[in-house]
Amino acid sequence: MTLFSGKLFYPFLIPGGLIFGAALFALARPELPDAWTPLLRYIPPSLLAASLLIGWRFNRSRLIFACLLLMTASQGLLFFGTTAVGPFVTELVPLLVPLNILLISLSAEKGAFNYRGGMWLALLLGQLVAGSWLYAQRYEQSLAFLQHQFVPWPLQQQIPIGQPALLAFCLTLLTLTIRFWLRPGALEAAFFWAVAIVLAGVLDMDGHPLTLYCASANLILLIGAIETSHSMAYRDELTGLPERRALNETMAKLGRRYTVAMLDIDHFKKFNDTHGHDVGDQVLKMVASKLAKISGGGKMFRYGGEEFSVIFPRTSIDDALPHLEEIRKAVASARFIPRGKDRPKAKPNKPLPPKKRNPALNVTISIGAAERRARLSTAEQVIKAADEALYRAKNAGRNRVCA
Ligand code: GH3
Ligand code: MG
Ligand code: MG
Repeated sequence: MTLFSGKLFYPFLIPGGLIFGAALFALARPELPDAWTPLLRYIPPSLLAASLLIGWRFNRSRLIFACLLLMTASQGLLFFGTTAVGPFVTELVPLLVPLNILLISLSAEKGAFNYRGGMWLALLLGQLVAGSWLYAQRYEQSLAFLQHQFVPWPLQQQIPIGQPALLAFCLTLLTLTIRFWLRPGALEAAFFWAVAIVLAGVLDMDGHPLTLYCASANLILLIGAIETSHSMAYRDELTGLPERRALNETMAKLGRRYTVAMLDIDHFKKFNDTHGHDVGDQVLKMVASKLAKISGGGKMFRYGGEEFSVIFPRTSIDDALPHLEEIRKAVASARFIPRGKDRPKAKPNKPLPPKKRNPALNVTISIGAAERRARLSTAEQVIKAADEALYRAKNAGRNRVCA
């Protein structure tokens, strides 16, 4: 999957990229009327408070750490920027902020109000102490490093940050892009856009304080965290498919014409009894990944247990049946090889010797479908009719589609 396929491209751009664009647009506009300016004072702390609350309630320690860091950095610059340490701080902060955000974004979500939070706070304080020591004891050398030019570049004169800081931003943005590609998620994308807007802030020639950019970064991260939690609430953890709640909401929005099908794995209890619950889970996952590829505009959901539902909006049952038949065949012809206990987690380079390989399991599914009609007008009635058709498919010998 490339980064530019629609499946990754839009979640990458929305909402992070959208807020990034909107914030830049807003900051590029002429000054706000005076009556508005006091409001700006309340926005950054309110956003921070909201982020701390959401981070705590939804267990998003990365949101908490990143927002605290942004607030510390922007307030530090505001406070010290015009003092004697100003030139040093304005060079050091743009180097440390992206590297810290990178570190935070790569860490695991394991809570903030525990020893990990303490460790992170110690790291932040350590940097403040190290910065103060460098300023007091190694001022000349440190400033020379922060302003060092790795490559002679004529445009450097016009850029307010040194090449080490610029390099830190580029490295962070590149790593975050790769990270999003490997592990797509709203908060991963938000980290990219948050760093991008802080970069826009440190490069800002119009003299807007960094606080505004950092507040925008905070907003991006906050929305990213909410978006992630929202998709987690609607997505089944084991299979990655949307679950019952999403199905109900999708059905409530359907028009007057649609087809619903219920799918159920045949003799699934036997898999659990013979191979154990873990293998059962793996089979469920593998079947779900096949089902997710349903064609004909069908949308697959995990209904519960080893049952799935598919909705075909604006589709008659006659048009939906060939796609259901196709998915039934795809599952029946697939060979599922569960990972054994002694099998390495990663795919081996060489195929394993035959005796070490787990035997392939054959799985079949039964499907029952129903179309919305005048007599079956509510979503519950259509689902019930599809369930009855599924029952007929089971009774008729399984591994088949009934309407
Ligand atoms: P059939 O549908 O063909 O009539 O037989 P079945 O054995 O599949 O029927 P039934 O619906 O009675 O059994 C479903 C079993 O699926 C029961 C439960 O142990 C198992 N199951 C449900 N959810 C999960 C899950 O998330 N993981 C695993 N491993 N097993 C599950
Ligand atoms: Mg069942
Ligand atoms: Mg079953």
